[in-house]
Amino acid sequence: MIAVDGKIEQIIADFPILARPTSRGKRLVYLDSAATSQKPRAVIQALVDYYEQYNANIHRGVYELAARATAEFEQARVKLARFIGAETNEIVWVRNTTEAVNLVAYSWGNANVRAGDAILLTELEHHSDLVPWQLLAQRTGAELRFIPVDERGRYVLDDLDALLDGCKLVACAHVSNTLGTILPLDVVIPRAHAAGAVVLVDGAQGAPHLAVNVKALDADFYTFSGHKMLGPTGIGVLYGKHELLAGMPPFFSGGDMIRKVGYAQTTFADPPRRFEAGTSNIADAIAYGVAVEYLQGVGMEWVREHERALTAYALQRLAEFEPRGLAIYGPRDPAAISGVISFNLADVHAHDLASILDTEGICVRAGHHCTMPLMEKMGWSATARASFYIYNTEADVDALCAGIEKAARLFGI
Ligand code: PMP
Repeated sequence: MIAVDGKIEQIIADFPILARPTSRGKRLVYLDSAATSQKPRAVIQALVDYYEQYNANIHRGVYELAARATAEFEQARVKLARFIGAETNEIVWVRNTTEAVNLVAYSWGNANVRAGDAILLTELEHHSDLVPWQLLAQRTGAELRFIPVDERGRYVLDDLDALLDGCKLVACAHVSNTLGTILPLDVVIPRAHAAGAVVLVDGAQGAPHLAVNVKALDADFYTFSGHKMLGPTGIGVLYGKHELLAGMPPFFSGGDMIRKVGYAQTTFADPPRRFEAGTSNIADAIAYGVAVEYLQGVGMEWVREHERALTAYALQRLAEFEPRGLAIYGPRDPAAISGVISFNLADVHAHDLASILDTEGICVRAGHHCTMPLMEKMGWSATARASFYIYNTEADVDALCAGIEKAARLFGI
């Protein structure tokens, strides 16, 4: 059961959108945080403050406004570094996880991956951590391999060492956005390193929900997006070990990433600036810093425990519908998943189910969740997906179940 300590009420009160009824006058039951999270007032206010009080471009201006904008922007980098236990110069601002993966695939990948090398992914990868590697494999002649999952979406690591043989790179999701499965990075990363591979962790669903320390994990790259962890859209982080970043050529080029430019030739700034061409997403980076401060204030251990308890409750409540044909996918162990449950109600299409839930103010996602190969492997055309975050409660799970009951009755189930 979830601790009743008043903390959750305080958290909910910090999210203005949760107090707004839907157009049908229902309470908003937001169960789609794996797609994007809601934002607390402090994050929204940080955006307003920047534009109202100190909007200026960073790094070049000598006047007070520009100095303040630069200081706040760089301070946000410090906050993000602390949040994942990194050094400040290992935090590269990007737009999102997708851009971070592409940056590594082009900059590190083009320079290091050759024909005959292998790249190891998992069968649970989001398209963002799959397609860039497919393109790299096509450019270089490298081979793609996959860590398999069983019928419940649990990793099968029995052949890991064989899969790692000849591997240059492992790119793997910390947490699956479709099934919530948590990858045991403490097993995979040391074995990947022993095989000589560099490891990129797609942390889009990891950093928002689990306490992450990139040094303890010994991840070489760790990528994540602000919008899934209380921050704005359009800002994300590529963490890279400094010695790796220092050896990588630029991805984008232009202003702000240079050391010296001549008409014929250019030398480049050290990381992270080398990878931040053009005017950065200043306001969003600053607000992202506020978002991670908020999460630290709540405590990442609390976040994990809250979501684990909520997931356990949801699995138990959803199981009541199993005799009527509700299929629950993914591992059934709340300790093995992070706040995501995919399901289907008998032969009701996931989109129809999601539309009926929407009439009750309940937001769930329906579709392939950007994991089309997984859907095909499992033989699912689509699933409905409920995903939880710090502001969700047992009342939200109860509302979801009442909505499923309504849908079941409508379809005569
Ligand atoms: N990886 C995973 C596991 C995700 O869940 C997502 C977003 N759904 C992404 C990558 C891509 O994130 P973004 O769209 O912010 O680049």
